[in-house]
Amino acid sequence: MDFVELEAIEGLRWSWNSWPVSKTESNDLVIPLSIMQTPLMKFNDLPLLSYDPLICSRCGSVLNPYARVDYPSRIWVCPFCYQKNSFPRSYAEIGENNIPAELFPTYSTVEYQLGHQGLMTPKRVNSNPVHNWETSNGLGLAKLNSSSFSSSSLSSLDQRGVGGRGLGIGPSFVFVVDACSSEDEIQALKNELLLIVAQLPENALVGLIVFDAMVRVYDLGFTECLQVVVFHGERDLSSSQIIDHLGIHPTKQQLGKTQGVQKHGFILPVSECEFNIATAIEDIRHSSPLKPGHRSPRCTGTAILVAIALLEGCSVRTGSRVMVFTSGPATMGPGMVASQDLNHSIRTHRDINTGHAPFYWKSCEFYKQISEKLTDLSMVLDLFACSLDQVGVTEMRAPVEKSGGFIMLTESFESDQFRKCLRHIFTRDQEGFLDMCFDVTIEIVTTKGVKICGAIGPCVSLRKKNASVSEKEVGEGGTNTWKLGTITDKTCITFFFQVNEEQKPQPGTAFFIQFITRYRHGNMGIRKRVTSAARRWVSGGAPEIAAGFDQETAGSIMARLAVHETGKNFPREVVRWLDKELISFASKFGDYIPEDPSSFRLSTNFSLYPQFMYHLRRSQFIDVFNSSPDETAFFQMMLNREGVVGSLIMIQPTLFQYSFDGPPIPVLLDVCSLSPDVILLFDSYFYVVIHYGSKIAQWKKLGYDRDPNHESFRKLLEAPELEAEQLVGQRIPVPKLIKCEQHSSQARFLLAKLNPSVTHKSSYVDGTEVIMTDDVSLQVFIEHLQELAVQG
Ligand SMILES: [Zn+2]
Repeated sequence: MDFVELEAIEGLRWSWNSWPVSKTESNDLVIPLSIMQTPLMKFNDLPLLSYDPLICSRCGSVLNPYARVDYPSRIWVCPFCYQKNSFPRSYAEIGENNIPAELFPTYSTVEYQLGHQGLMTPKRVNSNPVHNWETSNGLGLAKLNSSSFSSSSLSSLDQRGVGGRGLGIGPSFVFVVDACSSEDEIQALKNELLLIVAQLPENALVGLIVFDAMVRVYDLGFTECLQVVVFHGERDLSSSQIIDHLGIHPTKQQLGKTQGVQKHGFILPVSECEFNIATAIEDIRHSSPLKPGHRSPRCTGTAILVAIALLEGCSVRTGSRVMVFTSGPATMGPGMVASQDLNHSIRTHRDINTGHAPFYWKSCEFYKQISEKLTDLSMVLDLFACSLDQVGVTEMRAPVEKSGGFIMLTESFESDQFRKCLRHIFTRDQEGFLDMCFDVTIEIVTTKGVKICGAIGPCVSLRKKNASVSEKEVGEGGTNTWKLGTITDKTCITFFFQVNEEQKPQPGTAFFIQFITRYRHGNMGIRKRVTSAARRWVSGGAPEIAAGFDQETAGSIMARLAVHETGKNFPREVVRWLDKELISFASKFGDYIPEDPSSFRLSTNFSLYPQFMYHLRRSQFIDVFNSSPDETAFFQMMLNREGVVGSLIMIQPTLFQYSFDGPPIPVLLDVCSLSPDVILLFDSYFYVVIHYGSKIAQWKKLGYDRDPNHESFRKLLEAPELEAEQLVGQRIPVPKLIKCEQHSSQARFLLAKLNPSVTHKSSYVDGTEVIMTDDVSLQVFIEHLQELAVQG
């Protein structure tokens, strides 16, 4: 079975592709029944249907290719609950030779544009071979805009189109800028913001907030001079207090009219304030000089509160992002993470674990509340932390991660990484709309024999319980529906399931799982993407179970579970848990003679899994003590939203060797791969390292690459650079590219990830590189595993 090919059709990766019918048997599989879904994966051939989906009247599933259709009586039988549903009149022409796209066997995923909310009809992405169902759909167009936002200046936008750039009100962006950054940093940031604003669709709404010890909200509706409303940074204000202070109270609802707000200029369509917001951005100045021995007074938490209240007060319902740009920790007000006195250093992992981080828990609690608020209001929090110091990412993690916000950790706003990331977020699609979506929900419908346990990823449980929801919760559980503030075409969620024995699933029969992803497209229209998948029940011990095991997916899922555990347990307990699971796994799926470790074998589709676990347990996701709490939070958040391929690179980086001996080849992630006359290209997702062997480095220094007689050397140097450029170019956030020579200090980025097959403890000489570590090598690890597995 080619799991990658299947993923390209379904957007799904399953740890097990055949499921046992009993609960005990499924628990014995050690790795849970789970699916990694990329809800908005880009497909080559995705039918975009301009009518509403047909929904089963009993279970809420959407009509799909697995439904049994009785054409003469125009009835479809729901494959999930067997309810008979009749087709509406718009399907009158349906017949064996005239079937709608959603019944095409090859379309396991289709996308619906609901009711054309507030928009022109976008072009279809592909020409559909079947009957054009949209014309016969009698549902008609829904009301132009469901937004309750109707400040007088905005209501005009409701009515008119803005030249191909989307009708109605667009999404809103509140830029929250840290004025404590240095002069140069602020200038670099200002340049980028000006560029972004200049390129926004005209119907996008913008707001600007600048903070240091105070929070300043810019009035962008001015005609004479700049105006700001100021909040004191120390105060933990409620939304209604902030709304009061800004004077943007929603006016009383009048009969038959939508609720409006008083006219103000804090959030305006770009088309109305392009000049003013540019002037306001230009006006941002580096705030008062530092007191010696002190951190800048910075009230990041209050600034975020004000931004959220501002959007709340304006009742923006079309999707919004609060984008925070900061270069240091919050040192005052709610959510502060460090004191201003530099004698008190910012918390480390050890401080947090031993209770010596005085602000940590309070700050986390504050941001947990922010997170709940964002979910209720469908807002996204993005965090651009550009600083040499920590800024408090770990405290701010919940609202950023759960809203699906963008997170980047880099050293400077002047960096290429920052520029590329920010511009990437504001990419437009082919039709000129922002390639961005908002207000996402994912609903799962299952066959009765399947129960839903939960999800791990950038999502929040909506606690919608029905008969298919399990009592057992994994991650965000107790629900069949999750909320996500925003996702990209790469965002990947892991869902966990369980067998429901009471329904007595029969071996050999099929079961179905349907994912219904509802979201607001960049053009502001609502879409529903529906993926329907089928797999088979098998009896316990059936060969189909092993054949359907996807070890790469299993590795990624165990990594998410392990990261989830680090939130509750100390790293060494997580490692112990991973080891215990791996030993059970090996004794279940290995072939061996009991008590004889030398007889132990794993078949090919299981054999890589122990390696993944080896690298996972010593990765920065679990072994956190070599990273700062901010870095750990960043790494873990990235893993939690990445698909199978990316996750595996994070867990077990790739290493390629470039030499004169032939084309590049993959080599072992082992210290024995280091050699003086080769170049290594290492990719750990976050870092891409080009490592020049000592001889190569010397030839480079001597300028051989510029000598026409050494053309092949020039080419050898070029090849890994081109490949690295490609890797860096296609990944967001952009990885850090490091070029280093063997034995240089920068080489540590590579050395830290290599298997220490030769350490200062082993008796190796021979000029080989030696890694100073007490870690066990992969070989020793596997030997231990075999010994323990055969004990049964
Ligand atoms: Zn049904």
